[in-house]
Amino acid sequence: MTDCIFCKIISGDIPSTNVYKDGQTTAFRDINPAAPTHILIVPNKHIDSVNVLGSDDESLIGHLFTVAKQLAAQEGIADGGYRLIVNTGEGAGQTVPHIHLHLLGGAPMKHSMG
Ligand code: AMP
Repeated sequence: MTDCIFCKIISGDIPSTNVYKDGQTTAFRDINPAAPTHILIVPNKHIDSVNVLGSDDESLIGHLFTVAKQLAAQEGIADGGYRLIVNTGEGAGQTVPHIHLHLLGGAPMKHSMG
């Protein structure tokens, strides 16, 4: 999608601090980190949100979690604990309409859903 900021990051048109890339996904550091480790794991294919996922996307979404697991180990936060978040829709705080997994860790987190 031409006006999608994450599509532009994936294509290299907008700079980012990439930490992982393969044929299905790109992972890069969040520009406004909410934790010492804050990485966004994004499918290379444009999908607006969880609301429009199709059954043919299941293996792709599973792959995002496999990449998250690898990156958590690489970042040294696997044992200490980390949080994976997918905001869906404006009311949940989704600001970029290209589905993405937030990987957050490196500091103690409160058990809060709000
Ligand atoms: P969400 O609010 O769940 O849609 O998450 C979007 C995230 O993208 C936010 O945490 C932003 O800080 C982050 N973000 C926006 N633009 C960029 C960018 N150019 N590079 C890296 N992260 C970005």
